[in-house]
Amino acid sequence: MTNFEEINKHTFGVLFNAVSEGIIVINTNQIIVASNQSADEIFGFSTGELKGEHLDILIPKKKHEVHHAHMEKYLNHKTHRQMGQGRDLFGTRKDGSTFPVEVGLNPFELKGDSYVMAVVIDITLRKQQEQEILKLNNELESRIEKRTQELQIAVKGLEEEVIKRKAAENKIKESLRKERELNELKTKFLSLVSHEFKTPLSGILTSTTLIGKYTETEQQHKREKHLKTIAGKVKYLNNILDDFLSVERLETGKVNYKYSHFPITKTLNEVIYDANMLLKEGQEILYPKQIDDIVLYFDDKILELILTNLINNAIKYSPENSVIEVESYEEGDVVHVLVKDQGIGIPENEQKHIFNRYFRAENALTNQGTGIGLNIIKSHLENLGGKITFKSKQDQGSTFHVQIPKQ
Ligand code: ADP
Repeated sequence: MTNFEEINKHTFGVLFNAVSEGIIVINTNQIIVASNQSADEIFGFSTGELKGEHLDILIPKKKHEVHHAHMEKYLNHKTHRQMGQGRDLFGTRKDGSTFPVEVGLNPFELKGDSYVMAVVIDITLRKQQEQEILKLNNELESRIEKRTQELQIAVKGLEEEVIKRKAAENKIKESLRKERELNELKTKFLSLVSHEFKTPLSGILTSTTLIGKYTETEQQHKREKHLKTIAGKVKYLNNILDDFLSVERLETGKVNYKYSHFPITKTLNEVIYDANMLLKEGQEILYPKQIDDIVLYFDDKILELILTNLINNAIKYSPENSVIEVESYEEGDVVHVLVKDQGIGIPENEQKHIFNRYFRAENALTNQGTGIGLNIIKSHLENLGGKITFKSKQDQGSTFHVQIPKQ
């Protein structure tokens, strides 16, 4: 009888079998030297059957190799510890079935021999519960995920709805703004007709009355002078109407640009010819030089409107006996037209507003005007890929610079 068996008989007998955990004692060769009742039951052996067996009998076959390595290491540095930290451990029953276990290792020496006492707990139930909890958790998570997805879809739908409504709202706002602008335009137009049209119309009336008085043949030059005045004033009124029509078309989006090839001289000749009727005493327009070769692909009516406005402004805002210089040249794909005057100029603090619709500078208010010419020039040029800039100094003059793409 070994030392161990001797002691076992006396002391362990009772204690050993009283504990509910399975206890298996092995020697350094991993041979089972004792097992308690719980251990036998857990592993499905009858009492005493395990004794003398190699520990492998309780371990799944495919784990033997790993287990041997672990055990070797353990037997070299024996400590009290939990086995299989971080991994799941399994035991094998006598019938070959496996089940999860938790094992604590406790080395001890008895009369010079080393042993390890393994305390084994069958954790099948705990694992099942863990699995159950895991399953419930997974189910919960997937329900949450599904719900979150549903919510995300709902939120996305709402966001899209908000965007749609915003767009609709903006559209309504935009059409309201346009409607307001058009109403404003109509009001302005009516007040303009009553104020701005009055002076030229009464001028025309005076001229026609006077023409009627010049009955003599030799008074022909006087008749011609008045006819020129009438033509000029009619032109002026016509230009105002053209500007208003342009604004209305730009506002309602009804501008249809008509492109064609034409020499710039054609437009300049017409515009300067008409502008000559508006010249004040001693004013002179200097016609641009060396422009015969400049051919544009542009809307000629729009160019006419642009140049008429700029040249008429130069005349209107310049004193008698001053020079208005028109210049034009090509540079790469751009045709430049400059209209320079020696007039009243634009006060520096008002220059930033000059392209705003209806804006008129303080020093211009004694002249007739509507404040829409520059605004429509800018809109048209922007639509057509062109550009307008200016330089001006009060009481010294202004230069307006138009750039038109050649194609
Ligand atoms: P309008 O001449 O009918 O008032 P415009 O839109 O053509 O309208 O011009 C806007 C304003 O810009 C004018 O009222 C005037 O104050 C200023 N302006 C335009 N051209 C000139 C210029 N050549 N010299 C001085 N001021 C100018």
